[in-house]
Amino acid sequence: MKGHKIVQVEDYEKHVGSKTIERIREKAKPLQDFHIVNVNSTYYGGGVSELLSSMTLLMNGLGIDTGWRTVHGPPDFFSITKKMHNALQGGKINLSSRKMQIYEDVTYENAIRNHLDHDIVIVHDPQPLPLIEHYRKKGPWIWRCHIDLSHPDKKLWKYLSKFVEKYDASIVSIKEYAQDIRTPQMIFMPAIDPFSIINKDMSEEEIDERLTHYNIPTDLPLVVQVSRFDRWKDPEGVIKAFKLARKEVDATLVLLGNVATDDPEGVDVYNSLLSEKEERIIILSHQDGALVNALQRRATVVLQKSLREGFGLTVSEAMWKGTPVIGGNVGGIRYQIEDEVNGFLVSSVQEAADRIVQLLKNEKLCAQLGSRARETVRENFLMTRYLEQYLDLFNSFETNFRLRTMIGTVR
Ligand code: UDP
Repeated sequence: MKGHKIVQVEDYEKHVGSKTIERIREKAKPLQDFHIVNVNSTYYGGGVSELLSSMTLLMNGLGIDTGWRTVHGPPDFFSITKKMHNALQGGKINLSSRKMQIYEDVTYENAIRNHLDHDIVIVHDPQPLPLIEHYRKKGPWIWRCHIDLSHPDKKLWKYLSKFVEKYDASIVSIKEYAQDIRTPQMIFMPAIDPFSIINKDMSEEEIDERLTHYNIPTDLPLVVQVSRFDRWKDPEGVIKAFKLARKEVDATLVLLGNVATDDPEGVDVYNSLLSEKEERIIILSHQDGALVNALQRRATVVLQKSLREGFGLTVSEAMWKGTPVIGGNVGGIRYQIEDEVNGFLVSSVQEAADRIVQLLKNEKLCAQLGSRARETVRENFLMTRYLEQYLDLFNSFETNFRLRTMIGTVR
C-alpha cells in the first residue's frame, strides 16, 4: 500500500551482516506460500505479543503467510490461566475439577470459532494449549512455551503434559525449562526488534518530549524498571532496593508497567504499590512504547529484579540501548547478563541496592558495561536469530512431511 512499509529482513543487514540475510532468504524459499498461524491469548501487554508483532510481519515479508489469532474467554478463564501460569513458575494452585472444566470448555469454544487448517500451527503458552484436542491436524503443531518452567507444580504439569504430548514439537526459552515428555523439545531464546517503537533510535529531543509529557524529572539520575505489574517482577523489591541505595546516592526511581488483557492480577499489584509513591518514587501505568524506549535510553541504571523470568525482553531492550542492567539471577536473565561483564546479576534486595549505588557513582563503569551489553544483544538477541531458528524448524518438518508424502505415494 502506498506510503506504508513494514520492516524486512534486509533492514537488519547493518546489524547482522549480509551473509545472515542471504542465509535467511534461502531458508525461506522452500516455505513460500506456506500458511502458518500463531495462537496466543493477548494482542498487547507482555513479551509474547511483542515477539508476535515483529515475527509475523517479518515472516510475511519473506513470503510465508503467517497469521496471528488470540483466544477469547470470560474473566474466570483468564483468572484460572493466570493461576496456572503462576503455578508453572513455582507458585501454588488448587487444581480443582471446576478449574479444569472451565479451562477445557472455553478452549473448546475457541476451537469451534477458529478454523485452523494451516500448514503449521504454533500455540503459545498454556492458555490455548488444549486447542489441539479438537482438530484433525493438517500439518505439524508446535507448542511454544515462554514461561519459566524450572519449578512447575507437579500435578498441574502432569495434567498439562497430556496436551503437550499431542504436539509435534515444543519450544522453551532455555534448556533448564525442558521437561520429561515424549514431544521433541527445542530451545529458542526470544529476541528483540530494533525497529519497533520500543527499540528504535530516538533523538534526545524525542526522549525529553516523552519524559516531560509524563512529568518525569530528569534533574537526578533515573533508576528504572519497566515491567507488567506482576509479583514475579518484584516491584516491591525494586522499591526497597532503591530506598536503601538512596541513603548513599540521589536519584529518581521510575516504575513503569502495563497490564496485559490476559492478566487479571495486574490491577491489584499496581494498586498495592501506590502507597509507596513519593516525589522521587514514580509509579506509572501506561501503554506507551515510546515512553518505554525513552526511559530505557535516559536511565542511568535499568533494573529487572525478577524472582522468576521466562526470558525478560526488557533486559535485552535496555542492553541494546547501551544502558547497564541489574537483573535478578534467574531464568532467561542469566543468559542475557554475564555478571560484571555486561551488567550485574543479583539475588537479594541488598545486592541490588549495592549495585545501584556502584553504578550511580561510576559513569565509566556504566559506559563500559553498556557498550558490552549492546554488543551482546547485537550478536545474540536480535530477531533475525530467532527467525532463523523458526525457519530451520519449519524446514525440518517440510522435509519430514515431504518424505512421508513420498513414502505414502510409493505404498
Ligand atoms: N512493556 C511495555 N510497557 C510496559 C511494560 C512492559 O511495553 O509498561 C513491554 C516491554 O518493553 C517488553 C514486554 O512488554 O517488550 C515485556 O516482555 P518481557 O519478556 O520482559 O516480560 P513478560 O511481560 O512477557 O513477562
